[in-house]
This record gives sequence, C-alpha cells and structure tokens, in this order.
Amino acid sequence: MKVPFLDLSLQHRELRAEILAAIASAYDGNRFCLGKDVEGFEAAFCETLGYKRALGMNSGTSPLHASVVCAGVGVGDEVITTPFTFASSAWGVSYVGATPVFVDIDSATFNIDPARIEAAITPRTKAIIVVHLFGQPAAMTPILEIARRHSLFVVEDCAQAVGARYRGTPVGILGDCGTFSFYPTKNLGACGEGGAFVSRREDVFEHARALRVHGSLRRYHHDFVGFNFRMDGFQGAALSVKLPHLARWTARRREIAARYTSGIRLSDTILPASVEYGECVFHQFTLRHPRRDALREHLAKHEIGTDLIYPKCLHQQPCYAHLNMKSGSLPVAEKAAATCLSLPIFPELTDAQVDAVITAINRF
Ligand SMILES: *Cc1c(COP(=O)(O)O)cnc(C)c1O
Repeated sequence: MKVPFLDLSLQHRELRAEILAAIASAYDGNRFCLGKDVEGFEAAFCETLGYKRALGMNSGTSPLHASVVCAGVGVGDEVITTPFTFASSAWGVSYVGATPVFVDIDSATFNIDPARIEAAITPRTKAIIVVHLFGQPAAMTPILEIARRHSLFVVEDCAQAVGARYRGTPVGILGDCGTFSFYPTKNLGACGEGGAFVSRREDVFEHARALRVHGSLRRYHHDFVGFNFRMDGFQGAALSVKLPHLARWTARRREIAARYTSGIRLSDTILPASVEYGECVFHQFTLRHPRRDALREHLAKHEIGTDLIYPKCLHQQPCYAHLNMKSGSLPVAEKAAATCLSLPIFPELTDAQVDAVITAINRF
C-alpha cells in the first residue's frame, strides 16, 4: 500500500471552497497586509489555544528574530540552544551578530538537556532558545529555574508544537516569549508563509508588535530600527478557516502515534518517549534504529515515504563551521541525527495505511 510521507492535498480539497471564499473576501476588501482577517485569526488563536495576546507574522523565522531583539541580544553575546532542530531556531542569533552555543540533547526526548545548560553559561550568555521538537514539550521547569538564577531571557520555539501543553500550560508562555510557524507542512499550515509571536509579558509583546511594522506604532515615527514581519491578509483568512479543525487533527495525530507505539515490534528500535510533564502534538513521529538507512530503503521498496529529520546537527553544518565544534562534541545529538527516521503522521492517514507502515517495519 502506498503511504506518502506527507500529503496536504486531502486537507486542502476538503477545505477548498471555504478557504477560497475567505481569501476572496480579503481580496474584495483590499485587506492584504495585517487587517481584519489577521486580527480575527490572532483573536481566535488566543481563544482556541489559551493565550492572552498573539501577533501574526510572515514566517516562523521572523518571530524568532524578533525574540532575540526583544531579549536585547547583540554583537558578541551568546545564546544557548539545541543543535538538533531546524536551522531557523538559531538564525535570529546569527542575524544580530551573536553566537549560538549548542548544548547536547536529552536522549529520551530529542530536546535540549537541562542538566547540560549551566556548564555552557558564560558572562556573555543572554538567552536560551528552547525548541519543543516534534511537538514534544521540553523540560521547562529546570530550564526556567536556571534562567532565573542567571537572569537569562527564555524563548520557546513552538514551530512544531502548536497546541502542546507543559503541565497544563500552553507552550510559548512559560518563558519570556514564544514563536510559531504556519509553514504549510506544520500542524497548522497557512496557504503560503506565516508565523506568530506570543508572550506573557506585555513589555516584550509591545516591543515585538512595533518590530513587526518597521519599529513603529505611530505612523512615520520610528522608535527603533524595525522589520517588516507583517502577516498578509490571505494567510490570516486561510488560517482562520483551518484553526477550528486543529484540535481534531491533533487528536488524530495522537491516535496514529499510539497505533505506531503499540504496533511496532522491531528490535533495537527506540520509539518516541512520552513524558509525564507534557502533552505532545506529534508534529513528527521519529524513531531511532542503528540500521536506519537500510530500514528507510526497505520501507521505500514498500512504497512508504519517510524523512530524515534531521540528518545533520547544526554544529556540523558548514554555516557554523567557524564555531570549531569537533565531531563527537555533542554525542547524543550526533547519534540522533545518524539513527533517526520520521514516519508518516498527518491526520488524513487511514488506519490501514498506518498498519501497512507497522507491518513493513516489523518485517525488516
Ligand atoms: C519550521 C520551523 C521554523 C521556521 O519556520 P519558517 O516558517 O519556515 O520560517 C523554526 N523552527 C522550527 C523548529 C521549525 O520547525
């Protein structure tokens, strides 16, 4: 049975008329940049997910960039983050002339290991960027405790974790601010680029709001150098149509994950861990196997799509070669990159497709 790694066409076919009508309404009203559709989405996002305030932005990278500026990070500063993530988690740090300091991950969860953070703190450390990878909340309590002790700003990269909760609190408002991506492949995807910024702190939120529109809250008055991080009206319109379906899609992702977890019986396989402190939204279902490449090939022969997320850590990317981090310096992350394999886990998968993946894996 053919099982694609990801297929957005089913979701977009189902919602086609509704999304196109919402986009047409924005078009007819000439609401192209921010405006009523984006404001409506921001309000619904807060209401649905439990935030007090949210800013729609034009990608998931932009709110990360804004977060680093809000944290007061500048040239020569250091920001602690994980090496096992999408590169964008570290871009903001590099954009402002600061240095990302990569700290190894926890082998159970793929997230930054709080026990290794303190040793990486120097007088130049200004912030920690936590990533809730694959939809699994990171261990926020010890991280926040370290941050408090050293007066560090905490950013939560929630690009893969929309709807996830840490001990009942939605991710993004545990630290100083949180960021989301609505790239089409994310759990909540726009029909184009999109992202959001949330904060429990009003000062940080207002700073980000100004950064979004050229550093200006009053027209033609620029209190500081800003950006153009505005969400466009079409995306606000499309996301407003999709948002009411998110809870159902998340429930289905969890169902698929549970089916994989109880069905996969292949020896030497490490399945995603569940943690008592967090409710995972399964952006990915990523297992680890010592013969990952052979397993991947075997599944491809059975017409099952998989992906390597991520095949290479950030400290080993050419763009960060100047950090001089030797191979073997972050062994847990490096081993994860060498053995990880992500399985299909989008809400429209049928049980028969999930079972076909399980059967093929168990026959490897
Ligand atoms: C997708 C993603 C981003 C960046 O989002 P864009 O919308 O592509 O800019 C940042 N961090 C993580 C962890 C992501 O998965």
